[in-house]
Amino acid sequence: MSASMTLLLEGAARLGLALTPPQVEAFRRYQAMLLAWNRRFNLTAITEPEGVQVRHFLDALSCLPAMRARGGLEGRRVVDVGTGAGFPGLPLKIVCPAMRLTLVEATRKKTDFLRALVAELALTGVTVIHARAERLGREALHRERYDWALARAVAEMRVLAEYLLPLVRLGGWALAQKGEHAPAEVQRAACAITLLGGEVERLEPVTLPGLAEERFLVLVRKVAATPPRYPRREGMPAKRPLSCTDTERS
Ligand code: SAH
Repeated sequence: MSASMTLLLEGAARLGLALTPPQVEAFRRYQAMLLAWNRRFNLTAITEPEGVQVRHFLDALSCLPAMRARGGLEGRRVVDVGTGAGFPGLPLKIVCPAMRLTLVEATRKKTDFLRALVAELALTGVTVIHARAERLGREALHRERYDWALARAVAEMRVLAEYLLPLVRLGGWALAQKGEHAPAEVQRAACAITLLGGEVERLEPVTLPGLAEERFLVLVRKVAATPPRYPRREGMPAKRPLSCTDTERS
């Protein structure tokens, strides 16, 4: 079955990316496998090739210019938290094979899909972990080990800060892909971000071909170590998001 990948190719070109034939083939297989698995398991609400190419593949690739502008991805350690069916991490890995990618996902059927997909695409330098971010953030192998921690559509910014920032090394970055509520969410998360050792560097507006909705990349720099008591135990960040009161108590 051969599907048209025109939307992806044109959108990638707009991002300054000339996809090679093997990369296009990898995306074609990713799309086919995602749509096939989706008929059996609910991996994603997006079920049309056009949606997959724009809302999944290009949306993920829209992180690339900001990441390249901050030191590139060659040999970098990148963790994608709550990656679901691999977004944004795997499309980035397909176009930047030299990055080292860890995919973290709490739902088993999704990690099963990711493992099958990584094998199908014969990707190297990808680790799939079935866990919650809070657990990883307390493990020496993962805590403050990553150059980049990414997430899309996982939690509001106050909660996401507690998932992502413990994983980022000093001088590294957390990147959250957000919609129109990004400015308000970031404002609400200001105390949480500072408490966890982050500093908001920029809210970068991004546009995707054919989509009117506002999108932002929230870029947070890790400027101080995360205090040892964070992240709190599994479930706590979402149940009781960090607030300015927590800052005063620390
Ligand atoms: N990032 C993907 C999936 C978004 S859905 C995308 O944008 O398409 C959110 C996913 O995050 C779900 O698959 C859920 O299982 C996972 N998730 C939520 N909280 C998590 C946590 N604390 N640790 C790991 N995964 C989490």
